[in-house]
Amino acid sequence: MYTFNPGPSAVYPAVRQYLTDAFDEGWLSAPHRGERFTGLMRQTVTDLRAKLNIPQDYTVFFLSSATECWEVLTQSLTPTKSFHLYSGAFGEKWLDYARALRPASTGQAFGLDELPNVHTLPFNDDTDLVCLTQNETSNATQLRDGFILNVFNRLGNALLAIDATSSLGGIQLKYIKADIWFASVQKAFGLPAGLALMVLSPRAVARFRHLNERAHYNSLTAQYEKMLNWQTNYTPNVLGIYLLSRVLQDRAPIKAVHQHLQDRATKLYDFFDSATQLSPLVQNPETRSTTVIGLQGPPALIDEVKRSALAQGMQLGNGYGTWKANSLRIANFPAIPDAAYEKLVQFFAKDFA
Ligand SMILES: *Cc1c(COP(=O)(O)O)cnc(C)c1O
Repeated sequence: MYTFNPGPSAVYPAVRQYLTDAFDEGWLSAPHRGERFTGLMRQTVTDLRAKLNIPQDYTVFFLSSATECWEVLTQSLTPTKSFHLYSGAFGEKWLDYARALRPASTGQAFGLDELPNVHTLPFNDDTDLVCLTQNETSNATQLRDGFILNVFNRLGNALLAIDATSSLGGIQLKYIKADIWFASVQKAFGLPAGLALMVLSPRAVARFRHLNERAHYNSLTAQYEKMLNWQTNYTPNVLGIYLLSRVLQDRAPIKAVHQHLQDRATKLYDFFDSATQLSPLVQNPETRSTTVIGLQGPPALIDEVKRSALAQGMQLGNGYGTWKANSLRIANFPAIPDAAYEKLVQFFAKDFA
């Protein structure tokens, strides 16, 4: 069975062996203040930098989900308000969580095929955080590097926070062009859920240390202080961190992974643009995601395609939010082998051309 679900997504087949190793090596009851665990933390952060090209001066934290990252960013880096630019369900949910804690927060929606004008975005010097979803998993859109750079260049006092949940680990991100990046590992990392990464610029670290918010167990200040000794302030997901370290050691550098996914995405979009009854959900090639491919069609046809694919050993991702009934999603993640996409294309060519 191949699963193309964009999250939780297919895990690397090697995870089976890593799980056995974790058990046999005693990681499941390793004390989280002991040297063995802190060594694992240090090594995992080193490998993250090496394999994903995370800058040396950026700080890495481990959290438990992207949703937790949203909330922590509001708690610890948003004394007044955040501004959210979003095109889909995840970006909008982030705004909802931010507003619940900081009611002055605002948002602006944009369309799937649209590139918003950076110069008219309504944020100002009272805005603490500008929030973008680099890869909107719900509607298969992506904000390109150039767009993020343009926002970065007009930030003023605000910090730029980027939800890269379904792209971090799959594509090369320009970390220096934003202050905060985060992702959970059950998408592009090919790992089970329950762990997230947050990557922070020196400017972001200086900001949360200055704000010194300590009202929450997962405050960034508290995480920072513990992380100086490669620890966390609560018992962390040791198994998740172990699995991440194993996956990182076995992975190619991000540049190669990126090129591979890019080539695969180009082939898939070309195929779905021309040859099938379903067409790409996103029409504008400039806003299409590399790592999540959306297809649209009448609900009855979407249903039939999903059912028929499942009967042939391929689980396609459901549509999400407003696109639930009339779209389906295909993850293009590193853990899914090329053979899966060959089988998928043959299936569409034969039954739904
Ligand atoms: C899946 C997803 C989330 C939520 O991730 P959790 O780990 O379930 O909290 C947030 N943002 C984006 C873009 C996502 O794809």
